Amino acid sequence: MSYSNLSKMNFEISDDQKKFLEQVDQACKSIREHETRCYLEEKSNDMTVPTFGKIGMLGCPISKKYGGLGYDILTYAFALERIGREGNSLRTFFSAHVSIGQMVLQNWADEEQKRKYLPDATSGKSIMAFALTEPDAGSDPGSMTTKFEEKGDSFILNGKKHWVGNGTMAKVMTTYARGPDDRISAFIVDTDSKGFHAEEMKNKMGLLSIKNAEIRFENCMIPKKNLLGTKGKGLSIAYSALIDGRLSVAAGAIGVMKDCLDESIKHSQKRQQHGTVLAKKQLIQEHLSSMIVNIESSRWLVYRSAVARQKLHDYVENLKESDSQWQEKLNREDKEYSALRARADRLAAIAKLHATNAAFDCANRAVQIFGSFAYQKTNRVTRHFLDSRAIIIYEGANEVLKLKLASLELGDKYQAY
Ligand SMILES: Cc1cc2nc3c(=O)[nH]c(=O)nc-3n(C[C@H](O)[C@H](O)[C@H](O)COP(=O)(O)OP(=O)(O)OC[C@H]3O[C@@H](n4cnc5c(N)ncnc54)[C@H](O)[C@@H]3O)c2cc1C
Repeated sequence: MSYSNLSKMNFEISDDQKKFLEQVDQACKSIREHETRCYLEEKSNDMTVPTFGKIGMLGCPISKKYGGLGYDILTYAFALERIGREGNSLRTFFSAHVSIGQMVLQNWADEEQKRKYLPDATSGKSIMAFALTEPDAGSDPGSMTTKFEEKGDSFILNGKKHWVGNGTMAKVMTTYARGPDDRISAFIVDTDSKGFHAEEMKNKMGLLSIKNAEIRFENCMIPKKNLLGTKGKGLSIAYSALIDGRLSVAAGAIGVMKDCLDESIKHSQKRQQHGTVLAKKQLIQEHLSSMIVNIESSRWLVYRSAVARQKLHDYVENLKESDSQWQEKLNREDKEYSALRARADRLAAIAKLHATNAAFDCANRAVQIFGSFAYQKTNRVTRHFLDSRAIIIYEGANEVLKLKLASLELGDKYQAY
């Protein structure tokens, strides 16, 4: 795959990428009715893994070495954009399994860990999840109270996480805990480990075709070789995962907006009131034009952010090939790495902040265009409205992203979070 186009900000896709995206489109169409049924019945969509596994989407940005398709992050973002048209619920499955699931391992795991966990995840044999948030540590994960201690060849974890996406079905998840020296480390957890408990979180407002779980670690014993990255660097790993998470949410949000626009156009061209179709009313056209601006502005932010993230990925992958001590080098404040990471982090925060607010606005406008016809969950735009509330909260609540962006501009001493 050549990235030369990416550096010139040319978002045209190759024939090969086009073919893949057509497969994603077909998979989305084939699953549409079942996804709606699962959503309305509040069941996990059992067709997601087989349908998308067949076309390799379960490992889209993961190296071919581990069974993935090895696509660049921009192509992955295009695919998530298409999946987003089917709803945030379906897209969240991919964010949890791939973006903050497998990509964390691709980025930080050692070779043995990658060979053990990634092929099963890219093939869909095992589903992944990311367990960071705790009941008393949401926007401030640095205040987490989940603890680990060392005993012989094992780490013993104790504590609680919640809202973990794919948490009831995951076979493997990454999690984060505080050690006796107060520093936070990252771990890979097999969910059949002794002392691991997952319980479904019920009564959700939306995202009804995927499950979120509360996780309890009760003297949960995991082997020492499941430490992810360097001991004490867990928060940095979690924050790097959130770059990929935010990007995936933002990419999916574009699809949500596109679906809201398409549905609104169809409805407004059919529905007659006061002698003409709604599409001829100027106030309805204002809703449609706002959606168009929201879609196009979000696209540029997301695609640009994907390019920045790809550059960071390429730099780290090159370093891994040339220097076996790459983790130590990055930890010692490699200047180029810091600059590439800061840029990817900033652009992903901007893209997520803008695209998620824009998606909620589009869904709200679409509901208004449908009027009473949108007051039932059977309507697609209604589901987009309910699900888009979550994306303003998770992967960094939007207020916190605003504060992050302001303090990046003002300097650390102005940090308001
Ligand atoms: C549907 C869903 C799926 C999720 N999936 C996952 C998952 O897979 N894995 C995982 O680890 N977590 C997951 N989460 C958790 C999610 O990341 C957190 O909900 C999020 O980080 C916010 O934390 P909180 O809910 O505790 O809110 P709080 O941190 O309590 O924040 C509440 C409000 O206060 C605001 N706020 C917080 N701090 C400040 C400040 N300093 N200044 C101004 N305002 C502030 C926030 O913006 C927010 O509006 C999920 C959450 C939801 C709802």
